Amino acid sequence: MRAGSTPAENGQAAFRDALVAAGLLIPTGVDGLYGRSGVFEDVVERFNDLITTWGGDDGADVMRFPPGVARHQFEQSGYLKSFPHLAGTVHAFKGDERAHQSLLRRLEEGEEWTDAQMATNVVLTPAACYPVYPTIAERGPLPTDGALVDVYSYCFRHEPSLDPARMQLFRMREYVRAGTPEQVMEFRQSWVERGRALMESLSLPVDVDLANDPFFGRAGRMLAASQRDQGLKFELLIPIASAEQPTACLSFNYHQDHFGLLWDLRTPDGAVAHTACVGFGMERVALALFRHHGFDVKAWPAAVRAVLWG
Ligand code: ATP
Ligand code: ZN
Ligand code: MG
Repeated sequence: MRAGSTPAENGQAAFRDALVAAGLLIPTGVDGLYGRSGVFEDVVERFNDLITTWGGDDGADVMRFPPGVARHQFEQSGYLKSFPHLAGTVHAFKGDERAHQSLLRRLEEGEEWTDAQMATNVVLTPAACYPVYPTIAERGPLPTDGALVDVYSYCFRHEPSLDPARMQLFRMREYVRAGTPEQVMEFRQSWVERGRALMESLSLPVDVDLANDPFFGRAGRMLAASQRDQGLKFELLIPIASAEQPTACLSFNYHQDHFGLLWDLRTPDGAVAHTACVGFGMERVALALFRHHGFDVKAWPAAVRAVLWG
């Protein structure tokens, strides 16, 4: 028992310790920052291929960005309005030799040294879909059938936790749709159904429920309530570290015209485009599989092994 922690937190810490003891996660001394074993990575890769099996025939435009977004795009994205507490900016040393000497001295003496670090033009990607909107807006009005993009990236969120399912650096695979409200709603509805069937094919207990994003501050509480009232976000939940508090493993988000307005993304008739995305939390799905089928992948149910490894 850790002092002052809830039963759910104790369960999370115990699951993390078990994953570390089994060698699946490699600790670094920082909560939410882990290495992954070969077995863990193999599960992530097989699941990534399974997503492509279910979604690849839709003809999505594949884009792969590194886990950083351009600072000017990040500033324009509105992320700092809603989630300033989660953002991670990349800073680098820009001083002269004197500043370098001072840095080394302070490092040696265990003093704070990072105040000499200056912001670069790179911000860590908070969600895999962020670079997509400015990229497709740059191309001009959407074609009549809209746009469908497939992205996959490591993401950073400053939310250190004992829960192994809440990492600071984790991967998100997403399909992103832009077009008319009808095109976008149809996309999201089809993925709520497909996502459920996909996860059930892995013999995992799933539940789909209304959700909201953790908007910052008092105004944020109103944004979260309105997001719920309008049914803009759904999550597919699976119990991982705690049975009482299941974890969001997939998210289905309808942004209405939020990104369309921000980036001046339009449909062929000149209307502001609507967007939606479905996001798969790759580590969370792997952890759900380890939780429900055990740490030994060779002992997983034959049907689940067949789905993943063929
Ligand atoms: P939560 O409510 O648990 O914080 P979220 O609503 O913030 O999740 P999204 O912003 O919708 O999650 O992100 C898309 C997907 O990325 C989630 O469905 C989840 O599977 C995964 N994800 C989000 N945050 C984390 C994290 N800290 N560690 C691992 N996976 C995450
Ligand atoms: Zn997204
Ligand atoms: Mg979150």
